[in-house]
Amino acid sequence: MTEKVQSQDGPGAVDIPVGISACVLGQGVRFDGGHKLDRFIRDTLGAYVRFVPVCPEVEMGLGVPRETLRLARGGDDEGGAVRLVAPRSGTDHTERMESFARMRVMQLGKENLCGYILQNGSPSCGMERVRVYSKPGVAPARNGRGLFAQELMRQLPNLPVEEDGRLNDAGLRENFVERIFAYRRFRTLFGGAWQMGDLVAFHAREKLLLLAHDRTTYQELGRLVAGAKGRDRDQVAIEYEALFMAGLRKMATRGKQTNVLEHIAGYFKKLIDASDRQELQEVIASYRAGHVPLVVPVTLLKHHVRRHDIEYLAQQTYLDPHPIDLMLRNHG
Ligand code: SF4
Repeated sequence: MTEKVQSQDGPGAVDIPVGISACVLGQGVRFDGGHKLDRFIRDTLGAYVRFVPVCPEVEMGLGVPRETLRLARGGDDEGGAVRLVAPRSGTDHTERMESFARMRVMQLGKENLCGYILQNGSPSCGMERVRVYSKPGVAPARNGRGLFAQELMRQLPNLPVEEDGRLNDAGLRENFVERIFAYRRFRTLFGGAWQMGDLVAFHAREKLLLLAHDRTTYQELGRLVAGAKGRDRDQVAIEYEALFMAGLRKMATRGKQTNVLEHIAGYFKKLIDASDRQELQEVIASYRAGHVPLVVPVTLLKHHVRRHDIEYLAQQTYLDPHPIDLMLRNHG
């Protein structure tokens, strides 16, 4: 189960490792030998990343087929803790899964992962709203997290993590993929022998992307960068990583995107003629009104950036945060 799936040939030649619940890739590892293949993830996103599939239940030694598992809240004598149990046989797999997850996530931490896709609803892999059973006859509460997912998110708190079901939402999908590529850029910078000047340049390139998510985060990061001189560099990197990734988790809204588009358009005020200016304003207004997707104003702005060779804007990751073929900015 440690086999790695190579990304397909194509534009995604850069190595971007992304962990994934093996069943989402189509591997027949579910309790009944089935899978939960997601074609967008395997075929479209898979062209740009290298998947690292993990099936915690199989890897910890449960076979295929196997008994179904569920989360169950123990009684008062067990402190009300959530357990991973096989209801038919009554076997409790909690300790086994917890110790497997600690070890496996530690290994995954060395893989330089840039994201992780989990199978929703699973008592092992589910990220949120997993059913937790209590007493017979009482409906399960939907407030659990799979035990493997829990350990993953505990050990790697900045790693972009999403569930396959939530990735059907265009906004969540865009946000998640954007974070994968942002984390990759971050790790590329801080994985090498970086200088303070590199951090300043990184922060400048990410400015507009951060502003589309959260202005406060951008300002906090700015203060961190400004006060970084003379401080322990590892500590600065740790603080920057946590703030940067938390900021990008905040959803970019149409209003915040519009502000960023207007900001970019401001650079062309004196460079383009009246009819081009009007066209730009109309396209941005159409986006703000929800009549066209984000890709429309961004494409027009990129055209002007190229034509007028504005280096500061050309370097902004906001204009190219992820491969255009993923069509993530094409939703309404
Ligand atoms: S949800 Fe997780 S544990 Fe269950 S089959 Fe898929 S990879 Fe395995």
